[in-house]
Amino acid sequence: MHPDFTQRQMQAFLEAVHEKEGLPAALQRLREWSIATGYIRPDDLRLNSSFHWPDETYGLTFRAQVNVLRSRYTPQPQLPEVACPICFENIAAPGRENLRAFELTLAGRSYFLHLTPFPLFSGHFVLVQKQHVPMRVDRNSVADLLAFVRQAPHVTACSNSDVEWAGASILSHHHYQIIENLHLPVMDAAPVSELRFRCSRRGAEAAMLHYPCPCIKITCPDAEVFVELCARVIEHWKMAVQGKNTCNLIVMNGPAGFTGYVFLRNPDFRTAAEFQEIKSEGVGVIEMAGEGIYPVPSGDEASRLWSRIRQEGLEIVKGIIRSNSPITREHYADIFRDFAAVLSRAS
Ligand SMILES: [Zn+2]
Repeated sequence: MHPDFTQRQMQAFLEAVHEKEGLPAALQRLREWSIATGYIRPDDLRLNSSFHWPDETYGLTFRAQVNVLRSRYTPQPQLPEVACPICFENIAAPGRENLRAFELTLAGRSYFLHLTPFPLFSGHFVLVQKQHVPMRVDRNSVADLLAFVRQAPHVTACSNSDVEWAGASILSHHHYQIIENLHLPVMDAAPVSELRFRCSRRGAEAAMLHYPCPCIKITCPDAEVFVELCARVIEHWKMAVQGKNTCNLIVMNGPAGFTGYVFLRNPDFRTAAEFQEIKSEGVGVIEMAGEGIYPVPSGDEASRLWSRIRQEGLEIVKGIIRSNSPITREHYADIFRDFAAVLSRAS
């Protein structure tokens, strides 16, 4: 790897690594290059303030980070206007001279991925569809992420949604978040014992989690059945209120098979007024998964906001998740009964 690699040279190099050593090695080389050229600075993550709060109600530890890098971000006015901030044309473009990507095909669709200079975690990549097509969360999302984690079992593959104020980030161009070795609080949530569904074939299981928002966890060792079950849950929820109901999605690959977390979203349910001073922007998949992402408190109220985060942090992170949730706990059973019926037809 040479620091002067053009995008074309980088692609040829990473393709060879991918072929010989696999996708994790290709990710590692791209990361090393991005650090060596200063495109990302992993030490900057230490500037963030991180909080952990064990919670007795749900039996897991919620978290939050006050993210300094994202708060510092200001668009650079001297750069030429780009039609789309995440299109492939941005790779190695003026102002992004050290941005390089790796192109790969997932489930028959062309993608490229690169490190983000505004990471939430170490090893945070953005995976972008090569074609400029709108954001979507659907059967293909499950298939794409599954294709990725099959080759890189150490990553947590996440999708924001396709509806503004319901867990969306950039709606105009389809993309995912890929984060290495990331464990999120929702992964420790237990299934509600009476809200579990065991599929008749191939060891698949679906369950509503004991968690402050409706999240359906699907596990299955068989890739095809896994995609089918996740897709049915997403499609069923989206059909109920078309154009509003949507999902956030996490896909993982572990020793027991594939795991999907499907978070039910609807933009009519947003962060409650009492938490707006901590977080006024939309809430995405990482936050719904149990880690609050807050901007650095600023202005006259900064010290009061910092102490509020420290003292009431657990209630704030759970309150934000709960207020972005379209279904309250007493209705989990009703909604799950519907999903179980859909899944039993699919399995
Ligand atoms: Zn684009």
